[in-house]
Amino acid sequence: MDTLDFSVLIAIALALIAYFSKGSLWGKEDGESVHGVAGGFQTRDLVEILNSTNKKALVLYGSQTGTSEDYAHKYARELQSKFSIPTLCGDLSEFDFDNLNDIPEQVEGFTFITFFMATYGEGEPTDNAVEFIEFLKNDAEDLSNLKYTVFGLGNSTYEFYNQMGKTTNKRFSELGAQLVGTFGLGDDGQATMDEDFLAWKDSLFDTIKKDLHLEEHEVVYQPGLKVEENTALTVASPNVSVGEPNKAYLLRQDENLLQYGPFDHTHPYIAPISSSRELCSETSERNCIHLEFDLSNTNLRYSTGDHLAVWPSNANEHVESFLKVFNLTDRKSTVFDIEFLDPTVTVHFPFPTTYEAVVRHHLEISGPISRQTLKQFIPYAPDQSTKQEVIRLSESKDVFHNEVTAKYYNLADLLFKVSKQTPWNVPFNFLIETMPNLQHRYYSISSSSLSEKQTIHITAMIEAFKPAGSDHIVTGVTTNLLWNIQLNQDQSSVKAPVSYDLNGPRSLFSPYKLPVHIRRSTFKLPSNPALPVIMIGPGTGVAPFRGFIRERCQQVDNGTPNIGQSILYYGCRNSEQDFLYHDEWPVYSKKLGDKFKMYTAFSRENSHKVYVQHKLLENSREFIELMDQGAFIYVCGDAGKMAKDVNKAIVEILVKEKGLSEEDATESIREFKTSNRYQEDVW
Ligand code: FAD
Repeated sequence: MDTLDFSVLIAIALALIAYFSKGSLWGKEDGESVHGVAGGFQTRDLVEILNSTNKKALVLYGSQTGTSEDYAHKYARELQSKFSIPTLCGDLSEFDFDNLNDIPEQVEGFTFITFFMATYGEGEPTDNAVEFIEFLKNDAEDLSNLKYTVFGLGNSTYEFYNQMGKTTNKRFSELGAQLVGTFGLGDDGQATMDEDFLAWKDSLFDTIKKDLHLEEHEVVYQPGLKVEENTALTVASPNVSVGEPNKAYLLRQDENLLQYGPFDHTHPYIAPISSSRELCSETSERNCIHLEFDLSNTNLRYSTGDHLAVWPSNANEHVESFLKVFNLTDRKSTVFDIEFLDPTVTVHFPFPTTYEAVVRHHLEISGPISRQTLKQFIPYAPDQSTKQEVIRLSESKDVFHNEVTAKYYNLADLLFKVSKQTPWNVPFNFLIETMPNLQHRYYSISSSSLSEKQTIHITAMIEAFKPAGSDHIVTGVTTNLLWNIQLNQDQSSVKAPVSYDLNGPRSLFSPYKLPVHIRRSTFKLPSNPALPVIMIGPGTGVAPFRGFIRERCQQVDNGTPNIGQSILYYGCRNSEQDFLYHDEWPVYSKKLGDKFKMYTAFSRENSHKVYVQHKLLENSREFIELMDQGAFIYVCGDAGKMAKDVNKAIVEILVKEKGLSEEDATESIREFKTSNRYQEDVW
């Protein structure tokens, strides 16, 4: 064994110790987890937790991108405030469920459990709900002592719409639990999630009032935590977080953990971006960036088809306006500590910290605002006329839609607009508890782990647009950060609409690094390389297919015999402007020979729009022949319209070429999906 082998073994051993200690190495001793959160319970036993914290209602969430978690927290606070029910809100993965049915017998005055269940991908549970769903399906027995309710978060453009909410509701009902109110369905596909939630919640609260004989109070903010400024500390104090992703990065007590992980949604790897480039031409209205993350100094690994989660920070302009509207600009570097008034409340950032660090690195400040969020700001309006205006905007669904949602305001811009530039005095603990956490964004990895063992490629379309009739540019948090990095690396004279602090906290992200982790995906090539694959990926939907094709090219280089056909359907607006990786496809074609075929649809080059589904229909015979040879079908990209249109086109092909009825064709696609021969990676 040489020195390198030995050091790799040591690294693996340390990573395993860190993994099995479940975070104790990075700061759980004092009840804090990797984030520096309080409320990390010493037990997973729900009865014990509810009794020790004196909680009478339980709100549990399965959340992947943070939306469900955000709804759950808002709902739990309102339940507590409106009906004086002490409520525990928690992540499904933090508890065991074997004594679920014992709760009402062992927790005096217990009312009911509310589930916020997001569905991810093709009817899958979110990562934090996997074990709970397994329990419900296989192990749960009698639940007849329980009262429960469910709000499902899903997207009706997906076939298995709100599957996890439905499964939870069905199993609870089958096992004898009693549903309180109605089962709620929130639909992101129709962009009605907020209103679906509000309607469900209002009706549920009416039911609770009547059926459980509860008294309703005016909703007032009941702080779960206190922000205490600490003038003895400054941003130079080594234990003060200035935006580090977690305590491990702040305290740096274990360099192995930072380099070798394990890495997950609580502990990212700070990955160097070794190169980046623009994929669209100068004449394109759009920008799309290719980035390469270097893994050579870590044991973070991926497999082809996985997702990379990128941890963003907010743009300078958004941070400044947020600090300004809440009168925090002069105090932005003041250090504060957090004292938890409710032991079950958590925060997802390390502290002591500063106002700016929290706003820049940990809160989602620039996204759309919900009517419910705006309502919560009413008590803090700086004057009477502002208060009246906020009430007017938040009372009516239509007024809110026309004057807020349709104008794409973020919170700071809207509050400044209604107060006519007067700052708002809002307690910072309220902001911490009300604003969603800044979430990482996922990107389908566009490299192959076979050909790029130590590099991860991603392909990101920049989100920046001026809404019709508006005077401001709406910018996506992460893609504009990536774009800034690319422009900076390129020393380009092009200016992005917003700028970022690329150095990060204590220069942690310098030069050109970002926190990332991998999300394992089920979107995979068939294990038998001889099987044909049909890939449909317009726009950035082509990302994982670039990885698949690179994998097959590498297999050719490795001498793998008998590699199957690879058919790629790609679409974009214009062959001269946004044809992603147009210079690479001929190279792959040369390597794979007649085993690779690409069909392109350029929607804006003809008088009528041509999309990938039209190209599929044109090649229906070939499609069926490949299916008969066992081909796997893959669809990646826009969940809204494209995935549905492709699905419809395939039904049409089966009807035309196989003589199936539409019903049978639809059923046969469902079977392909169940047996993994039809896989979707859509967003
Ligand atoms: P965000 O800040 O999240 O904003 C997104 C959108 O929200 C904006 O474009 C705008 O429409 C809206 N918005 C923002 N602010 C406001 C406001 N104030 N009011 C109203 N609306 C507002 N993307 C890719 O480009 N390539 C990929 O390969 C890819 N793969 C993915 C794989 C998976 C599994 C998933 C779930 C997503 C994938 N995505 C991919 C999408 C990606 O994760 C991001 O959602 C996308 O890049 C936008 O992120 P952002 O932070 O830039 O924008």
